[in-house]
Amino acid sequence: MTTLFSHATVLCMDEAGTVLQDGYVLVRGREIAYVGLIRPQERADREVNATGKVLMPGFVDAHTHLTMSLMRGYGGGHDLQTWLNDYIFPVEAKLDSRAVRAGTALSLAEAIAGGVTSVSDMYYFCDDIIAEVVKSGISANIARGATVFTEDFFPEAYPACAETRQLTEKWHNYNDGQIKIDACIHGEYTSNPKLWTWMADFARSHGLQMHVHLSETKAEQEGCLQRHGMTPAAVFERYGLWDTPAIAAHCVWTTPEDWEILRRHGVTAVHNPASNMKLASGAAPVAQLLTAGVNVALGTDGMSSNDNHSMFEEMKLAALLARVTSLDPLALRDDTVLKMATVNGARAQGRHAGVVAAGYQADLILVDLRAPNLQPCHDVKSNLIYAANASNVCMNMARGTIIYENGNFLTLDLDEILREVERYAVPKLFS
Ligand SMILES: [Zn+2]
Repeated sequence: MTTLFSHATVLCMDEAGTVLQDGYVLVRGREIAYVGLIRPQERADREVNATGKVLMPGFVDAHTHLTMSLMRGYGGGHDLQTWLNDYIFPVEAKLDSRAVRAGTALSLAEAIAGGVTSVSDMYYFCDDIIAEVVKSGISANIARGATVFTEDFFPEAYPACAETRQLTEKWHNYNDGQIKIDACIHGEYTSNPKLWTWMADFARSHGLQMHVHLSETKAEQEGCLQRHGMTPAAVFERYGLWDTPAIAAHCVWTTPEDWEILRRHGVTAVHNPASNMKLASGAAPVAQLLTAGVNVALGTDGMSSNDNHSMFEEMKLAALLARVTSLDPLALRDDTVLKMATVNGARAQGRHAGVVAAGYQADLILVDLRAPNLQPCHDVKSNLIYAANASNVCMNMARGTIIYENGNFLTLDLDEILREVERYAVPKLFS
């Protein structure tokens, strides 16, 4: 199958920040085969006239919990610890496979309509989450969130460890890499050295990446200093959790010494500005992390602390938050913000995507520049960050297949998803 996008404004997201006017992009199979200003010779199976539209890489949501859309807006007005202990954990205790599938599918529909082509998810019921992701057509790095509150456990038999092993055997690199399994520690404050040692070992010996929450709140940072005499980044370094490529979500309270640790190990810091602001966690030092040489990507975090899946909103909040905390209007340049939402996330996931160039995975979206909120267009990058919203996405192509076009889902049944959420999941969890 080949698809030709013609007459597009192509946001390449290459190092030079190239924007092509009236460009052509040919997709063959799952890959981009050609990008240029001259119509390719090859006749495509389908031509999409992209006049008045931006063709750009799909967004990589580098830290989320898809299922948590079921808890959208629930327990608002609390800090992270109260919100988790008094609201989220009691609801999660009632989850079952069917509810997880409903919530995951709901998030996937929202994400796909908003231009997301890949996610890094951390949760449990991972087989159910993966089943929904596979059906949707996007890519995902899936991590089984591992917590433990006792030293008295045998790792090989411990559910989080056993499930990580089973998931790896069953799903890692499934469908030519559509699904990747990441090893995972939920956070320093919800686990202990025995679990860290097992997980670091398992990641190293199975070639997995790592996904953790890191220094999200001041209480977490200070508690870790009391418990271990070190910051979470330093203690995770000591136990080998950075020995394989890793995603560290939040990094709000990280120190200059932590930034050096993250840089040295190639750890990606994932910035979740909406969630950090809503839970009053703080503002991550994004400009400083970037200056220190750390790869920084963007994530929505769960819909329960955001409360939507819009990567446009994350870009805008990231840009504005950096300005307001530094009093510098150039704290994050437009190219940097766009990279955080695309190619930096793909790099964090270990995927050859996030750039519109021959040989890259065809994860592409079209954004309608003719929408009233995007006119006039003096600067397309600026409009995408500060003026656009998720409803401006009119096409989503994941792995070379168009899965969403002009409001229609081609892999998901939205009516069925809404029915499952309304009639099964919400009554099950909240009554
Ligand atoms: Zn999270």
